[in-house]
Amino acid sequence: MADSKAILVVGETEKGKMASITRELLGGARVLADQSGGDVCLLLLGEIAAALASEGISLGADKVYVATNAAYNEFSSDAYTELVSGLCAKIAPALCLMGQTDLGCEVAPRVAARLGAALAMDCVEVVFDAENGRFQQTRPAFGGKALSVLASTKGLLQINTVRAKSMQAAALQDGRKGETVTIAEAPAPGVIKVKLLEAKKTEAEGIKLEDAKVIVSGGGGLGGTEGFAMIKELADLLGGVVGATRVPVDENWVPLSMEIGQTGKIVSPELYIAIGISGAAQHVTGCISSKKIVTINRDPDANMFKISDLGLVADYKAVVPILIEKLKAMNT
Ligand SMILES: Cc1cc2nc3c(=O)[nH]c(=O)nc-3n(C[C@H](O)[C@H](O)[C@H](O)COP(=O)(O)OP(=O)(O)OC[C@H]3O[C@@H](n4cnc5c(N)ncnc54)[C@H](O)[C@@H]3O)c2cc1C
Repeated sequence: MADSKAILVVGETEKGKMASITRELLGGARVLADQSGGDVCLLLLGEIAAALASEGISLGADKVYVATNAAYNEFSSDAYTELVSGLCAKIAPALCLMGQTDLGCEVAPRVAARLGAALAMDCVEVVFDAENGRFQQTRPAFGGKALSVLASTKGLLQINTVRAKSMQAAALQDGRKGETVTIAEAPAPGVIKVKLLEAKKTEAEGIKLEDAKVIVSGGGGLGGTEGFAMIKELADLLGGVVGATRVPVDENWVPLSMEIGQTGKIVSPELYIAIGISGAAQHVTGCISSKKIVTINRDPDANMFKISDLGLVADYKAVVPILIEKLKAMNT
């Protein structure tokens, strides 16, 4: 029977494991479901799904739908959209959560359009408004300069994509009971209209930008690859990773996978150190949710200072070597 209070989490896997964004969505969904009185449902896709179902239950799901057909092994916008739309139509959830990931960004709007659902992308908070019996979303607006709070018509399916690190990841609870439902069918003929001919994966070394606790990010002000070698040393000493603005990507100093911002990654580390970055709205939107922001820029009027907790007006070439030296001294 349809449970109009259910919360459906569209899960993602990564190298055979539950993706961190899915653990976060399950943590958030569990809190919301306990407040709104519904069940948490999780959808996992591909042949790996069945093996991860019990982990989904331990992470707070009441029901795990496993779409085990090999057709779902690789991401297909057409097949995933069809599957998620069909499942939403069947279980009629009140809320469907996806990550603000490549999958979520592509599938969420398509499902919302098909089902006439309310859509809020890139949410940094989802809460349950008990008084009005509906969910409420907060998302950055105007390139991160403001936050908007949204509420949809009660009774309308709400589909939200949620930014990484916005929800508290669920902890494993041994012995939690739940149900697993297998969806064995392949997508119907004609559903997949776009065929993947080739996938080129750029394997990033070490911690992913989206999972990093510390990011040292460089902009056009670094002037070239030597500047990035310098901030990499700083990042390593802080146990962090290096990010970038679009300028160094366009200049081929760093790969596209390092870009942060509107057309790059959305990150929320504990510490974001912006070096030689002006603070354009398109960049700020990708790092504004960082817990602490430190800026080093020689221009005192750089926009980046306006969103920083700590700022240093200086030439990076003068101050970064001193920081590296001090950190090395602390580590010995
Ligand atoms: C549709 C669209 C999407 C976009 N998406 C993105 C995106 O996802 N991510 C992104 O980053 N950009 C994006 N951009 C580009 C964005 O608008 C800016 O052009 C870009 O962010 C600027 O990068 P920057 O701050 O590194 O470079 P600049 O604007 O060139 O700034 C360099 C800064 O370094 C400082 N500086 C120079 N030398 C030194 C030094 N020696 N020491 C210290 N400071 C120094 C300067 O004072 C300046 O503030 C997008 C643009 C468009 C139109």
